Amino acid sequence: MASVLIALGGNVGDVRTTFKKAIAHICGMAQAAMIARSSDYATPPWGDEDQDPFINACVEIETGLDPHALLFVMQKVEQRFGRMRDKDRRWGPRTLDLDMIAYDDVSMNKPDLTLPHPRLFERAFVLVPLAEIAADRVISGIRVRDALASVSTQGIEQLPDTG
Ligand code: ATP
Ligand code: CA
Ligand code: CA
Repeated sequence: MASVLIALGGNVGDVRTTFKKAIAHICGMAQAAMIARSSDYATPPWGDEDQDPFINACVEIETGLDPHALLFVMQKVEQRFGRMRDKDRRWGPRTLDLDMIAYDDVSMNKPDLTLPHPRLFERAFVLVPLAEIAADRVISGIRVRDALASVSTQGIEQLPDTG
């Protein structure tokens, strides 16, 4: 079994409900066990700042699927939750974005899958929830808590648990 970290994001619709359903679907389709789930966070938009705030979270799952099979499942779940987006607008609004942050210690650079996720260390909206569930994990030689200490977390707000 592999330990996989997945980052969730969205800023269109009832994102927190979408996250709950999406996580359940990933675990079901990937025959995965949920090991940990962060809180949800409200975060300022990144890359394309002219849009609503995002909600972000991270989960750790354990799965027997290989990285590409898991990516396929994640893309199916994105589609199922109506991932509408503007094709011409990179990092624009979306209902659900699922990024594979790390898959065990696998390192790969394929056209459709780069592991660990290449923009992980520049993104407080990934590192804050990730540090909540995996502060001591070392990714590409960097401990998550140390990576978090090197970015600004301004504007990121932990949301109360909705149960
Ligand atoms: P970013 O990757 O900067 O967060 P994005 O999430 O908006 O941007 P998408 O349009 O969701 O980008 O994904 C573009 C492609 O990235 C996907 O089709 C997928 O094949 C590829 N990809 C490469 N590495 C990964 C990864 N680690 N997790 C998810 N998708 C990945
Ligand atoms: Ca993304
Ligand atoms: Ca993505």
